[in-house]
Amino acid sequence: MQPGDEKPTVQFDPGLARTLVEFLRQPVPVERGGVLLGRRDDAKIQVSLAVFPPQLAYASSHCAFAVNAIEILRNASDTVEPADAMRPVDRIVGWVHTHPAIGLYLSTTDVTTFASWTRLDPAAVAVVIDPYLPGPEIDRIGWWAAPDGDAPAEPGPRTADRQWVSEVEPAPPDTVGWKDSALLAAALDQEGNGGCWEIVGAGGVHSVFPMPQSPPEPDPEPVLLGSRLPPEPPEPLESSEPLESSEPLESSEPLESSEPLESSVEAEAGAAAEEAG
Ligand SMILES: [Zn+2]
Repeated sequence: MQPGDEKPTVQFDPGLARTLVEFLRQPVPVERGGVLLGRRDDAKIQVSLAVFPPQLAYASSHCAFAVNAIEILRNASDTVEPADAMRPVDRIVGWVHTHPAIGLYLSTTDVTTFASWTRLDPAAVAVVIDPYLPGPEIDRIGWWAAPDGDAPAEPGPRTADRQWVSEVEPAPPDTVGWKDSALLAAALDQEGNGGCWEIVGAGGVHSVFPMPQSPPEPDPEPVLLGSRLPPEPPEPLESSEPLESSEPLESSEPLESSEPLESSVEAEAGAAAEEAG
C-alpha cells in the first residue's frame, strides 16, 4: 500500500473469534504469542488461523517463542497444498499475542517487536486479544497496522490507533481454515522441532507434538512478545523523543536473524522485573 491509502480491515470468521477467545481464556491468565495466517489484499485481511508455537516463556507478564518457529511455520505452510482447496493456502499475515485481563494496547515492547515484523512485512498487522474483557468475543480483539510511511515509531505504548476486528460471514466449512489446520498440523508434525504447537481455527484447536528432529540447539534466542507494562498515562503522542532504534535486521531471510531482538528482550525483561519488583 502507498502512504495515504486506506488501512485494510482485519476480518475474523465469527467461529474463529469465538474459538480463539475460548482457547485463550484459561483459568490462570498467561500471555501467549503466535502467528496469524490468512489471506489479504489491499482492502482486507481475512484471518483464518492462529498458530501458537511452543512457548519459551509462559507467564502472566510476558510471553515468547523462538524466532525460528516462524521459519518452521512458513516451511510447513509452504508444503500444504490441498488438492481440493478452492483458494490459495493461507499465509502469514501478522502477529498475535494476549493481554490477559490488562486490556488492549501495544506496550513499548510490543511496539518494538511489531516494528521488527513490519520491517520484513510492511503489511503485517499486530493483533492483541484480552480474553477476559466483557462482551462479544469480537470486542476482545484489537489490531494495529504499521505506522504510516517511513515515519519513525512513536515512543511509548500505542493505544489511540487501535482498530476493531470485524466479523465475516462463516465460509463453507470445507473451504476454510479448519481444513488447512489439519493439513498444517500434519506438516508441522514433520517440520516442528519438539514442543507443543497449537493451531486454532474456526472449527477448534489442533495440538501437535512433533518429535525433535535433532538435538535441540542450546538457548534459542527468544522473541519477547509482550510485557506487562501498562500504558503510560497519556501523552504518548506528544513526546518527540525518538524510539531508541534497534539495529536493523541485516539478514534478508525474514526473521531468521534474532540478534536485533535480543537486546530489547533483555532490556524489557529487566524493565518488567523492575516494574514487578
Ligand atoms: Zn503486549
